[in-house]
Amino acid sequence: MSRQTTRSEELYQEALKYIPGGVNSPVRAFRSVGGNPLFMDHGIGSQLYDVDGNAYTDYVMSWGPLLFGHAPAPILKAIAEAAAKGTSFGASTAAEVELARKITETVPSIEKVRLVNSGTEAVMSAVRAARGFTGRNKVVKFEGNYHGHSDGFLSKSGSGLVTLGLPDSAGVPPGLTQDTITLPYNDVRKFRTAMNTVGPDAACVILEPVPGNMGVVLPTEEFLNAVREETTKFGSVLLFDEVISGFRLSSGGAQHVYGVTPDMTTLGKIIGGGLPLAAYGGRADIMDVIAPLGPVYQAGTLSGNPLAVAAGLAQLAMIEERGSDLYTELHAKTEHLETSAQASANKLKLPIQINRVGSMMTLFFTDQPVTDYATAKTSDTAKYGVFFRALLDRGVYLAPSQFEALFLSDAHTEQDVESTAKAIHEGLVVVAG
Ligand code: PMP
Repeated sequence: MSRQTTRSEELYQEALKYIPGGVNSPVRAFRSVGGNPLFMDHGIGSQLYDVDGNAYTDYVMSWGPLLFGHAPAPILKAIAEAAAKGTSFGASTAAEVELARKITETVPSIEKVRLVNSGTEAVMSAVRAARGFTGRNKVVKFEGNYHGHSDGFLSKSGSGLVTLGLPDSAGVPPGLTQDTITLPYNDVRKFRTAMNTVGPDAACVILEPVPGNMGVVLPTEEFLNAVREETTKFGSVLLFDEVISGFRLSSGGAQHVYGVTPDMTTLGKIIGGGLPLAAYGGRADIMDVIAPLGPVYQAGTLSGNPLAVAAGLAQLAMIEERGSDLYTELHAKTEHLETSAQASANKLKLPIQINRVGSMMTLFFTDQPVTDYATAKTSDTAKYGVFFRALLDRGVYLAPSQFEALFLSDAHTEQDVESTAKAIHEGLVVVAG
């Protein structure tokens, strides 16, 4: 427990001089949990090593992409082979056609797909397509869901905004969010009522079908059915943001698990095998509004980058190879972590809520069931900070924020889970004080 982080500290001080806040994404700062960010050196399987040589069992997994852990051999090989042929052409390749075909075969609601570089770009482009297709402006979204950092989505958003307590972002003119309507998640009555007014003007309704950005929240089936019914009724595009849940909950994503078919879907994270790649796709009639076929413009110098496509194809091939065992085992390991953490909390009489869907899970320090943004916010984030630091000292790396998910990978062993369960128990003892 005597972790030395001297080199991380030095790098952080140096980083502060050149990078705002010392980080290239605010979720990496340790602001809400106390302390300074760790600088990482390398990862192998479930283990992540910082620049001071400390090892951590990693449950961040680069915020979701690493379904097979760090540096899986088949992905490294695919990247090296692609790199040897050239890193970028800005022209069409056979591999991108293969990846698009794989995505459309695995996620049947996606008839056509465009590859982009980040989840932010995927959502921004998908919404533009939905607006172009419907000729409408308004977008309905839900509190605590995060859809990237494009202007129209930076109000009452999840992830780093809720972590840093920012209801809205500065630098976004009011005009750019005036067409965004934000409603509470899982509230069927409020949603149906709002749709009665806004439905005819709503280009799309966008949601995380399994939210991971206010911590994990379970959607009710009634809610998912209601978003499908109302969007059909009013001719709005139903857009599932599956940047996290795609290929994580099942190869067909949350839409397959819950049996609700959206009109459009955004994907990211896992489909890029740890390289910058994301996608948006959906019904062919909607996707055909995009240039060069239609009037909606969207483009990208590095879109469909050969290294990212190679990494993505390799990861999807690994998913296919492992078959349904992959998800069965992942979910069982995560359930093991859930039940042991719950048992520890019960023993300590510590009120916590654990939300888990498949291999995504969040432990909240509250006595209220967490079903939406308002109830997620009842969690005692100071306690989460204590818990986070206690686990770090025991070699377990969780997200440095209460309002995120922990992710398991295929590389996490039963032994990892056992030792993490022990660390969680000890962490909860520290929290219980
Ligand atoms: N949508 C969801 C559901 C996400 O979780 C994220 C990122 N965590 C994004 C969009 C944005 O993706 P990116 O960070 O790649 O821009």
